Amino acid sequence: MPDNLTELATYKEIYEQLVTLKHTVYSCTDISSDPESLAILFSQKIALIKGNTPNALWLIEGTTRAVEIALNGNSVSVGRRRELPLEHEVLRCVFEEQTVMWPANLNSVREVFVPFQSPVLFPIKSGRTVLGFLVIDLVRPNEADLLQSIAHFAGLIFAAGRLYHEAEAQRKELEEQKKLLSSTAELLLTQHGLMVSLHNAALDFAKANDPTQVLHLVTELLVTEFGAGRAAAFLLSQDSQEMIGVSEKGGPKGIEGLKLPWKKEARIGQAIKSKRILGYMDHPGALVLGPNELTNWIIFPAKGRENVLGVAIVEIKTEDNLDPMAILVHNASMMLETLLMLEMQKRLSILDSLTGLHNHRYFVERFHVEFSRAKRYLTHLTLIVADLDFFKQVNDAHGHAVGDQVLKEVAGRMQDKLRDSDIIARYGGEEFVALLPETDIESGRAVAEKLRRAICETLIESDAGSLHISISIGVTSYPGEGVESRDVMFKKADQALYLAKESGRNRVVALPALTRPTPGDEPNQEVDPSTARRILP
Ligand code: GH3
Ligand code: MG
Ligand code: MG
Repeated sequence: MPDNLTELATYKEIYEQLVTLKHTVYSCTDISSDPESLAILFSQKIALIKGNTPNALWLIEGTTRAVEIALNGNSVSVGRRRELPLEHEVLRCVFEEQTVMWPANLNSVREVFVPFQSPVLFPIKSGRTVLGFLVIDLVRPNEADLLQSIAHFAGLIFAAGRLYHEAEAQRKELEEQKKLLSSTAELLLTQHGLMVSLHNAALDFAKANDPTQVLHLVTELLVTEFGAGRAAAFLLSQDSQEMIGVSEKGGPKGIEGLKLPWKKEARIGQAIKSKRILGYMDHPGALVLGPNELTNWIIFPAKGRENVLGVAIVEIKTEDNLDPMAILVHNASMMLETLLMLEMQKRLSILDSLTGLHNHRYFVERFHVEFSRAKRYLTHLTLIVADLDFFKQVNDAHGHAVGDQVLKEVAGRMQDKLRDSDIIARYGGEEFVALLPETDIESGRAVAEKLRRAICETLIESDAGSLHISISIGVTSYPGEGVESRDVMFKKADQALYLAKESGRNRVVALPALTRPTPGDEPNQEVDPSTARRILP
């Protein structure tokens, strides 16, 4: 039976070829490859065995279409890939049949699978899920089972690959999450550090005794704990027209003590007026502050309950710590407002509300200090006491309001004639006292004379017209005869004042009497100082 033998030999040959194919495909697949590389590999191996017979491998993409990935062992370039919607009639069998599909209508199938003459489709499945299909031409009946088993194998490999990739993606995601977690942990740690710094700063602010200390703390912390490059803190002046440099850290010095009319610096003015934090990152125009030039900077207004109290200007390297910086400045501002209010109260408590001069209480304190200092360092100290002449008449004639106008004017004129280091106070009613450190009795008397003339030589304008007012002044100095204590010193000055009144008013009397009379000095020698009554309470 030669025919049967020939047929058997052919079968054997095909069988061996296919076994080789299966073997080579099995041995070189790698589940870590992506589905497209696997598709090309399968197509290559089949082409090796099937020679010129066309083969193609299609994969299902998403839920809507099948795409031709490999043709005759070559990758089909993305732009040239043919696609079929899954509902296309030639694919129906791929989903419905478990085994090889022999298309009934060859022509319609040929039109789709050019250049195949008699294409056969082998579904690539994993369980019931169709992953793709192999298209092979001119399949001999005895090849079908093997090709089908190769398609099964491909299904396994694709499914395993898909699982592998899913697992790989999950592993990567986990790794990302782990990284994210560790960077979150790092961030939390940094945040925690900043919270601790803020907490400690709040404790330090509470210990501050004056506004300057708070501002020094702020600039220091901004640079050392919050990563600022430089920080400068300014207080607004009382009339709010100027900003005064108080503290600076991290940069070339020169801001402390600097006075700037903030309205001229548009960007700072904007932050103060809007009470908002303003930032200028990568700003072409640098902010010039005194001798410093800042490139990336933030302006934090230090807000009180009603007004802006000052500004912190911070040069920053990153935008990371802006929130904690804002909290720090906010905390500092609250303390700043309390301390500024305390300072204001303190200032008001030592000032006389009518004249703006220091008050009786402050004078008593300073007299104590200045007298002790003079005694200790053996320096001169002059005390002046002054009382307006016939002031009751001014009130009686023109009313209390006019009397008050006169008092204010007198206070202003006296203050103008004194040095900053002198202390002048309204002792009470229409009585004034002045302390002149480092001033002996001769100079003290000359100053008193200047004060007297400042009052009487120019009429005082009031609602009641121009008034002629004069003042009597008593002067004494330490060291001086019998002046061992503050009490004695005060009594002596009071006696001198009494003498001035007694001897005709509008004059200056110094006690102990000057050995060498100064021009214009006309002490009334007929009055015995020891019998003089006290004028001041
Ligand atoms: P002299 O000192 O020359 O002996 O006469 P005087 O009229 O000034 O007498 P005295 O010092 O005793 O009178 C003080 C007057 O000053 C009494 C009061 O009417 C007035 N006086 C005191 N305090 C104020 C004040 O705050 N405002 C006004 N307008 N008058 C005051
Ligand atoms: Mg008086
Ligand atoms: Mg008087």
